[in-house]
Formats: sequence, structure tokens, C-alpha cells
Amino acid sequence: MATNPAPGTAEGEGRFWSKVHRGPEGACWIWLGAIADDGYGRYYLHAGTGGMVRPHRYAYALALEIELEELGELMHVCDVPVCVNPAHLQPGDHTENMRDRMRKGRADNGLFGHSVGVGRAG
Ligand SMILES: [Zn+2]
Repeated sequence: MATNPAPGTAEGEGRFWSKVHRGPEGACWIWLGAIADDGYGRYYLHAGTGGMVRPHRYAYALALEIELEELGELMHVCDVPVCVNPAHLQPGDHTENMRDRMRKGRADNGLFGHSVGVGRAG
């Protein structure tokens, strides 16, 4: 009779990492488990009863010791969907904000701003 490790235990975590091929320092960590049609991995927290997560999200949550529910969007900085290296993952919202800020900053910084009226003073 097979016994499944209880969800949320260290044993469950070990089961997760056993499906990950960790590359050398700085390299991608490749998910070896199930991969869905969208190209992203799938990890079933407890076999047969649902509780599916994206492996990269699970790995990120484990690395930061936070709950999966606290995670927003995650983006791969390495563009490898099956990579679960937490160092290659970034919260998507943050990146969006940064990009947005840069764009706005550049626009506000223009040399050709509203100079109308300055030369007419006096
Ligand atoms: Zn990667």
C-alpha cells in the first residue's frame, strides 16, 4: 500500500525538489514534472485531490518562506517557463511598475517642456 506524504510537510517539499534539476550557480533550475499545454509546469500538492500549483510559484514561495496566496504575478527574467530558480523570478507587478515609472520619468524629463511665457516675462 502506498502512502502519500501529508500536504505541507517537509516530506512534501522534498517530493517537490526531487522533480527539479538544479543547474550550476546562476543557471536555470529545470522542472522535470508534469508540464501543461501552456508550457508551464504543474505540481499537484496532494496527489489525486487537486491543489495544483505552478512549480515556479511554489519554488518562489518556498524560497521566500511566504504563502502562495501572498504571491502576485510572477515573471521569468530568463524567459524559460519551466525554470523554477527563485533568482530568475520576479513579481510581475513590480516589473510593470518599474517600466511604467521609467517611461513616465523620461516623458517628464523632456527638454521641450512648457517653456511658453518664460521669454516674455517683463
Ligand atoms: Zn531560469
